[in-house]
Amino acid sequence: SRVLLTGGSGFIAAHVLDILLERGHSVVTTVRSQEKANKIKDAHPKYGKDKLDFAIVEDIAQEHAFDKAVVSDPPFEIVIHTASPFHFNVKDVQKELLDPAIIGTTGVLKSIAKSAPSVKRVVITSSFASIINPFEGDWPSHTYSEKDWNPINAEQAVENPAAGYRASKTFAEKAAWDFVEKEKPNFSLATMCPPLVLGPIVHYLNSLDGLNTSNQRIRDIMQGKAKEEIAPTGTYIWVDVRDLALCHVLAGEKEEAANKRFFITAGYFSNKEIAQIVGKNYPQYEDGLPTEKTPGGGYPEGGIYKWDNSRVKEVLGVKFRTLEESIVDTVKSLQAVGA
Ligand code: NDP
Repeated sequence: SRVLLTGGSGFIAAHVLDILLERGHSVVTTVRSQEKANKIKDAHPKYGKDKLDFAIVEDIAQEHAFDKAVVSDPPFEIVIHTASPFHFNVKDVQKELLDPAIIGTTGVLKSIAKSAPSVKRVVITSSFASIINPFEGDWPSHTYSEKDWNPINAEQAVENPAAGYRASKTFAEKAAWDFVEKEKPNFSLATMCPPLVLGPIVHYLNSLDGLNTSNQRIRDIMQGKAKEEIAPTGTYIWVDVRDLALCHVLAGEKEEAANKRFFITAGYFSNKEIAQIVGKNYPQYEDGLPTEKTPGGGYPEGGIYKWDNSRVKEVLGVKFRTLEESIVDTVKSLQAVGA
């Protein structure tokens, strides 16, 4: 199919792009600059313009940002919207997190409904942030699934960047479902709700300092920052980026994914386990790693929420990589950029 992928320079999107190309799709991806387009293009020399092309969308928070990008010849059948800010170094939660997430999402949907009648499916990268109830803490009696929605409100959203990020994902996903319900557009929707995403980075876009948010804890452990005390794990469930990327592509391809929300996790992890896997597979980092006795980084003593990933396994049929495989490959990819 002909696919529009937004935010092609992102950690997750880079893998979505590779899987789309491997499966024979013809892709246009949006990036913020020609420089980024060139880097992606140079890293995929075997694909011509008919298979891999680019549209520049500098800021998804601008109304009509996607008006031009959604129009293509041949026309698009699938749109995968991944672009959204994921970092916490913001001063203005509204401008830097909420606006790009929400206006970016509603904006791409409006542009498709107006100018891209051939689109049949839109896949949106949402998050476990839109599922988790942050006010319940560890909540060992609860099993999270697609039925849960983060109850955060507009006032709580601007309290701090972490709340702002979770709210940005919650409000954006809600706005997408509302849009489909009210407008009854030409496409059906599927949303992807992963918790912490770990896995290899693509070397052509990355540096150790500019590393995507979710892999920073692995870099920090490799750099010796967990030696005295391991940082709190925070979110205790995860998924490998390659498995998540495949879910995006399958959710675009499969009829059965229409109008479904997918909670996509491989299971539990802790920072302590990451450190152990690094030590076991890469003895050269041993000096900077925590030992059995180092405090922190484990699971809460009172237990933690449970998770139900049955829908994604049944409908999309994806098998999940193990934490060990994911961490081993991530470390290798970080070494390639100088770790
Ligand atoms: P990245 O930071 O690597 O990717 C974010 C992408 O969004 C980049 O391509 C970035 O472009 C683009 N982007 C951000 N703001 C704007 C803007 N205002 N205008 C245009 N483009 C913008 O992070 P991930 O790959 O991890 O995130 C991708 C998606 O996955 C996001 O929707 C995120 O919320 C979601 N997600 C991620 C999880 C994780 O653990 N990694 C967990 C759950 C959900 P540029 O790089 O040029 O700034």
